[in-house]
Amino acid sequence: MNSALTALTDWWEDMGVPADANEMALLKKAGATPKSPPIAQSEPTTLVRKKAKGGPSSVEEWVALARQVANGCNDLETLKAAVEAFEGCPLKAGANKTVVFDGVHAGPVMVIGEGAGGQEDRVGLPFVGKAGQLLDKMLDAIELSRQTNTFITNVTFWRPPGNRNPEPDELAVCRPFVDRMIELVQPKLIISAGGVSAKSLLDTKTGIMKLRGKPVDYTTPGGVTAPLVPVFHPAYLLRRPQDKSRAWRDLLLIQSLMAS
Ligand code: URA
Repeated sequence: MNSALTALTDWWEDMGVPADANEMALLKKAGATPKSPPIAQSEPTTLVRKKAKGGPSSVEEWVALARQVANGCNDLETLKAAVEAFEGCPLKAGANKTVVFDGVHAGPVMVIGEGAGGQEDRVGLPFVGKAGQLLDKMLDAIELSRQTNTFITNVTFWRPPGNRNPEPDELAVCRPFVDRMIELVQPKLIISAGGVSAKSLLDTKTGIMKLRGKPVDYTTPGGVTAPLVPVFHPAYLLRRPQDKSRAWRDLLLIQSLMAS
């Protein structure tokens, strides 16, 4: 794909439009024949599984298996390999890459976003697209970075089709790995980026407008506790720059919590 088309599809993705559908339309208009027919990308997937030789057949069983596998991992590289090998999340089938984590393994700060977008799905690392670039700038403003002191992951490890929000079942099967990551990183502070991440981690229906900027203790099943500060998602701030002043207040709060 040439760079103009990449830029265009990135923009569509930022706007929440399934790029694949647009790409197909563009190819059609240009008279090119797509290699394979498009999949219905924006439909939520469901965790329907065939029972394979005693393997998990329900979400609960997949979650239990994920918890067992995750708890058996004693370092982050082993955990990453375990996520990559895990077959319990239906998002995996539609993704190019498994996007697990980036940054400093024992980072005192851990950022937890929502899930991969188009760019992350291509590269295999979290927050490397336009929203990721803004996240890096936000972190840099309070002397945090993935190169020096920050660990970055998501509440899901595969790009949802058409960049839709992850479904509860998809979040549930990924969660044991997120919890284990927190236990292995042992961050001093967790930043959850965006409403999906905060609502899922805090198990609440309260929106990001009310959650943001208010630290809440998060405790993993293994007993690791850290203050979690929900902030606006950088992709939201790209769409609503007028909320950057509120985001800045949240960053200053994070800075003061880290200094205390
Ligand atoms: N948005 C997220 O929440 N996570 C990423 O990794 C990229 C974009």
